[in-house]
Formats: sequence, C-alpha cells, structure tokens
Amino acid sequence: MKQFSLIEKQESLDVLNYQIRACERCSLSATRKHALTGEGNINARIMFIALSPGGKEDSENKMFIGPSGQVFNRLLQAAGINRNLVFMTNLVKCMLPKNRKPSMEEIESCSIFLNDEILLIQPEIIVPLGYFATRTILTKYHDNSLAMGKGFTEINGKLIFINDQKIFPLPHPASLLYNPSFEPDTIEKYKKLKTFL
Ligand code: SF4
Repeated sequence: MKQFSLIEKQESLDVLNYQIRACERCSLSATRKHALTGEGNINARIMFIALSPGGKEDSENKMFIGPSGQVFNRLLQAAGINRNLVFMTNLVKCMLPKNRKPSMEEIESCSIFLNDEILLIQPEIIVPLGYFATRTILTKYHDNSLAMGKGFTEINGKLIFINDQKIFPLPHPASLLYNPSFEPDTIEKYKKLKTFL
C-alpha cells in the first residue's frame, strides 16, 4: 500500500474534498445544502463512518453537531476516546431527506469518495456505524455476510480482521435516540475500541 507524507495526504484530501463539495453524481445533490467532507485527524488510527449528515450538519456543514453528534460525543467520552484524535466521515455525503434509507445507487455513487478517504487516511481500525456503513465496508473487503442476510446485531461490537484490516462495526449513535435504554450496552462496545489500539 502506498504511504503518504503528511503534506501529500493533506493535498490529496483537499482535492478530494473539493470534488465532494461539487459532486452531482446522484439526486441527493438537489436537496442538500452542503456535501459534507470527512473531518478530524488525518493521521488517525480510528476512522468512524456514519451514515449521512443530519439536518443540522447539512445546514452548518460540520459533522456530528446535531442530536446524533451529542450522543456520539457522550459515547466517545465514556470510552475514553478523544474526538480530536479520530477521523470521521459519512457513507453518503449528502443529507437523506426525512432521514430515509439510502438507495444502493446512492451508496454506490458516493462510495468512490469513501474509498479514497480510506486510501489516504489508512486507518488501523475502520469503525462503520450502523447497518448500511457496515454492509458497505464488509462488501468492500469481500465479506458478504450482511449482504447475504446475516443480522447487524450478530456482528456489531465484534472485531473482524480481513486481509490485515481491522473492522469494528458499532451501533450508530442515532440508534440511541430511538432506544436510549441501549446506551449502557453501547458504551461497553465503544470501550472495546481502546483495547484494540
Ligand atoms: S450523496 Fe455523494 S454521490 Fe450523491 S451527490 Fe452527494 S456527494 Fe455526490
């Protein structure tokens, strides 16, 4: 795998982010205010992949600042992980109207950007949040278990090794907005992250 210097990484990310902001590859470009680029430490060992920007994120062009972001911050704090040390991005860079599910076409259109982000950041652990990000990442690494019908509950919170890449699926913070009683269990899963570093 090609190694990048810090300057090369930043320059390549700047080009990639420019492409994301201008992207009209799918119809979500018509309803977004902003296409969100990845944020965080470009030398991060952990890369979180959320689903898509929410309303506040879309308006203010920043990741994880709405209700899900507050839950995310709480989970990171409970797990002893500094948000400034991780990289965060979305599977689908533009907001999904009315929080609907993404279509396969939208995921495929947008995955070119996610693939480039992974190539540039080269995280030690990829942490897909929720079903769609996990299915996409596992499929990218030729594990079709979710696509073939295995349940997300069976694999989240468990470390998966594929060709030297660590993948650690976790519940999406937004899921706790609907099921707050799952928070203690989710915190225990997030805490495992630190033990893998
Ligand atoms: S969701 Fe992705 S592919 Fe679709 S317009 Fe936005 S950036 Fe482009």
